[in-house]
Amino acid sequence: MKTRGVNSEQTKKTNRLLVLRLLSVTGGASRTELTRRVGLTKMTVSNITADLLRNGILREELPAGQKAPGAGRPQMRLCFTETAPAVIGVWISRDGCTAILADLSLKVLETRFSPLSAGETADLLLERAAGLCGELCGALAPGQPLLGVGVASVGPLDLQRGLILNPPNFGGLRNIPVCAALSSRLHVPVFLENDTNAGALAEKYFGRCSACSNFVYVGLTNGLSAGIVLRDALLHGQHGFAGELGHTVVDPAGERCYCGRRGCLETRVTVSRLLREAEREWGRAFADFGALCRFCGQSAGAEDWLAGQLEPLGLALANLANLVDPDCILLGHEGAGLPDRILERLARRINAEVLAGERAGIRVERSSFGALAAVYGAAAVVLKKVFDGETGYSCFFGEA
Ligand SMILES: [Zn+2]
Repeated sequence: MKTRGVNSEQTKKTNRLLVLRLLSVTGGASRTELTRRVGLTKMTVSNITADLLRNGILREELPAGQKAPGAGRPQMRLCFTETAPAVIGVWISRDGCTAILADLSLKVLETRFSPLSAGETADLLLERAAGLCGELCGALAPGQPLLGVGVASVGPLDLQRGLILNPPNFGGLRNIPVCAALSSRLHVPVFLENDTNAGALAEKYFGRCSACSNFVYVGLTNGLSAGIVLRDALLHGQHGFAGELGHTVVDPAGERCYCGRRGCLETRVTVSRLLREAEREWGRAFADFGALCRFCGQSAGAEDWLAGQLEPLGLALANLANLVDPDCILLGHEGAGLPDRILERLARRINAEVLAGERAGIRVERSSFGALAAVYGAAAVVLKKVFDGETGYSCFFGEA
């Protein structure tokens, strides 16, 4: 029940953020296009963009293909300046730290990577992450503000307290205060999100699912989990642990999982397991999952073998599809390398098993960001906070 009215200052802020978001997700647009898409008056949109032009956030340019003004006034395109605020995304995986500096349209300006070492400690990891962020700050244009840092990490996480709790196969590292440590070093807000949720967020705002209200991003790597978007919002669940697809049971009599139970999906389908099984089957080692996927995409026999290995994933996804009724399922992380024919087979399998049958028409596609949706998503976490008015507002509109 709504118990608070909306005053004009709040409405103004909401409208401004709406226009900013649209400029961000489109990477630039004309006033006419903005007006059409946000459903505000032309005057309101013009006032908002005038503020952004005055504050050095936007500049005007001729649309592509229109070299010079011809007959009639061309529709100028509004796009972000080189000194408009930027964001940093950090992805902490079992392999290392990846960090990007990105603009407001999630275009990557700089990238850094640092592998984790054998004797990694929490302090070392935090130093490493802070070091990468520091290098990226050095790549900011003079006068270009940094809005914040988003961290996407393997879970489980305590999102409220900004902690990486105790990820399995993570060198025994636990209770890492990543948000507090980075914000005290970098003096900007730091936000934490699970890496597959972050992937889903990148797809929702900047990827191929921008028009989907309900979809699932599946991160297949040395673990397996799902970022579930329902009614345009990430599903976190009561404790922030929603989407643990890898620990849904596909074989109750199967192998013991590190979580203590038997036959979790992760005991059957992870990148390391698939590489091991492939070496056994084909008598050769594959450099990485991409190499195995390419191999399986080139021969019918190998494709059948991979489809068989992925059978438990198909089962788990069909179950998930029956529960959440998604428009689309995206395979991401290293799973983005799966061959087209395997995605098609998964789609057929899932659509054959959901109650709605082929009518559901659930699409199975690969991530828009290759294997890197998590780090794009980390940066998108900050942008979403900006769109929601939770951070950075004054960088764009002054102290209004
Ligand atoms: Zn398990």
